[in-house]
Amino acid sequence: MAEVEKRTAVVVVGAGVAGLTVGNLLRRNGVDCIILERRSREHVEARQRAGTLDTRGVRLFREWGLAEVLDAGPTTEVEGSFFIDGHAMPIEVDEDDNESIFIPQQFLVRRLADIFLREGGEIRYQADVEPSGIAGASPAVRYRDSTGATVVLHCDYVAGCDGDRGATRGSIPAGVLTRYAYEFKYSWLSVLAAVPGKTSGMAIHTRGLAGLIPRGAENSRIYLQCPVGDTVAQWPDKRVWDELEARVGQSLGRGEILSKEVVALRGVVHEPMHHGRVYLLGDAAHIVPPMSAKGIHLALFDAETFAKAVIAQVRDGDPSLLDSYSDTCLGHVWNYQAFATWITDLMHNAGDPSSEGEFRKQVARAELRRQFESEAANRVFSELTSGTA
Ligand SMILES: Cc1cc2nc3c(=O)[nH]c(=O)nc-3n(C[C@H](O)[C@H](O)[C@H](O)COP(=O)(O)OP(=O)(O)OC[C@H]3O[C@@H](n4cnc5c(N)ncnc54)[C@H](O)[C@@H]3O)c2cc1C
Repeated sequence: MAEVEKRTAVVVVGAGVAGLTVGNLLRRNGVDCIILERRSREHVEARQRAGTLDTRGVRLFREWGLAEVLDAGPTTEVEGSFFIDGHAMPIEVDEDDNESIFIPQQFLVRRLADIFLREGGEIRYQADVEPSGIAGASPAVRYRDSTGATVVLHCDYVAGCDGDRGATRGSIPAGVLTRYAYEFKYSWLSVLAAVPGKTSGMAIHTRGLAGLIPRGAENSRIYLQCPVGDTVAQWPDKRVWDELEARVGQSLGRGEILSKEVVALRGVVHEPMHHGRVYLLGDAAHIVPPMSAKGIHLALFDAETFAKAVIAQVRDGDPSLLDSYSDTCLGHVWNYQAFATWITDLMHNAGDPSSEGEFRKQVARAELRRQFESEAANRVFSELTSGTA
């Protein structure tokens, strides 16, 4: 079958939060782009992941005229709780500075795609992107569409928004990027259950950390700390509920379990976040442990930084923001890795002493008490119980 050749200013690989945000910001500012997504639209818009958007994310969408993505759909009033050894901790927060909202990630993705398509944008779903050649001197992204036809998209820039296992990062020659990674000494069993999202709680307990976070009006996600190497088969449904209730100290409601997986907790950063005309954004460049709930925050930060940089280049011929893209993002990323590592170890060490021992547990408890007495930290814990910090 003959190849079709096309041209656009920016090829965005991946239609997740980062890719769709970049696409919208660019198009609204007169920069032509095409988004390529490996999966079907149905798959992408059903994928359950994060459940909240933090204050910075909310403000970003408002500032760029995209406030309509913030409609959280049919949510209910959510009550946040924080338990230590089965006792509820008081959390009082100055809500004036906290605009974070509950919004399942798939709602956000659906709305961003709706707006992009409504405004004439082009998303090629089920596009099988070939990694070779992406990172060449004159960038081009070759993909096979769902009919089997091969399309070559020539462009000025490639935005690699295709997650940790995408094609873009893999197209950068070996030796250019350095991968920094840290593996935590515990994992999470992540469970999606049909429990109406009315309660949001985190629990610290000797048996391990537990969390119940709303994912829309009908479902909740349960997180249970478990040893590295545990498998789903070791966690029958009854054990999930019994363990959640033992760690929280009360029942937060039971329901049908819809899915279960064991999630490794890790922090990863790839440096630099660009090579030639290929730029990495979101999970393609870095991963933060889910305890910090900062994955979306970082994806949006990269998307905004990249979009501003491309707009400055295209509108004003100013390359400086593109030149500094990697440094700008990495400064922010490492700050959030610091926060994510601190909060993840603090929350786990304060409960289960099996990985770091009783001494570190007491140190973590002292740190927690100090945090609960501080107003700023109270806000961190309040936001954590809503799945964001
Ligand atoms: C179970 C779970 C719970 C989480 N909870 C939270 C939370 O509470 N708060 C939070 O902030 N973050 C959370 N995260 C992290 C958050 O979901 C990610 O950080 C966020 O999705 C990153 O957005 P992204 O656009 O960079 O990547 P993604 O959302 O992964 O999007 C990448 C897109 O690229 C596509 N793609 C992949 N390969 C290719 C290819 N070769 N060609 C074309 N397209 C490709 C993928 O299909 C996908 O649509 C969670 C993640 C998981 C897995």
